[in-house]
Amino acid sequence: MSEYSISAVGHIQSPYKQKFAIPRQPRLVPQAKAKLIFTTEFNREEFVRGIEEFSHIWLLFRFHETADKGYSAMVRPPRLGGNERKGVFATRATFRPNAIGMSAVKLEGVEYKNGQLSLLLAGIDLLDGTPIVDIKPYLPYSDAMHDASAGFADTRPETQMSVEFTPEAIDFIATQTHYPELKDFIANVLKQDPRPAYKKQKQGEQSYGMTLYNYNIRWQVNGEHNLVTSIENT
Ligand code: SAM
Repeated sequence: MSEYSISAVGHIQSPYKQKFAIPRQPRLVPQAKAKLIFTTEFNREEFVRGIEEFSHIWLLFRFHETADKGYSAMVRPPRLGGNERKGVFATRATFRPNAIGMSAVKLEGVEYKNGQLSLLLAGIDLLDGTPIVDIKPYLPYSDAMHDASAGFADTRPETQMSVEFTPEAIDFIATQTHYPELKDFIANVLKQDPRPAYKKQKQGEQSYGMTLYNYNIRWQVNGEHNLVTSIENT
């Protein structure tokens, strides 16, 4: 196989501090805001001039957290309950040759602050620190295919999960005025039902934890109901 060397043009500052609970595709959780911070070589306004004319951009990135684990020819898409296998190139699995990912995300702005160029993004599905290897504008006239079909992944994944918060969790959120969307952000992450397929088959109450921004969040799942029980600073 030919070898190529590529390096990051920037990296992502994301509220998702661990893989668990990151949505499986971009734009499923619109409140997931992030910054793309350019590396020194690309830290010049010329590189992005005109990009603010686009509402959405493509990010090409490296699945850096799992890249060293290699790939499999066949994977078990969560869509299929983790039971059926498909070829890796028929999926968006992270364990793939070259570990390259792609996400179309909302571009909310371009920032040049204290000598640092950044893109302000929303609806991301990327781990904090993800290296970005290229950025391209999303072109609706060509990228949006209205007659496309997608077999086992044809529809937006919907769950029936409901999300409630204990009074203590609500009180804590009310004090976090610098994140006005925090409650909706947490609720939308949990509505995606981030649990692995095999856990979804378990009966009875289960307890989980995740880190978003600098918060440790704990919740209980019973059937299709999530109850956020505690939120604390990390
Ligand atoms: N939209 C991209 C694509 O289609 O190439 C990513 C799809 S992949 C199924 C999404 C998952 O990748 C997330 O749920 C998260 O668990 C994982 N992920 C996100 N950033 C990652 C990173 N830097 N390294 C490894 N895994 C990552």
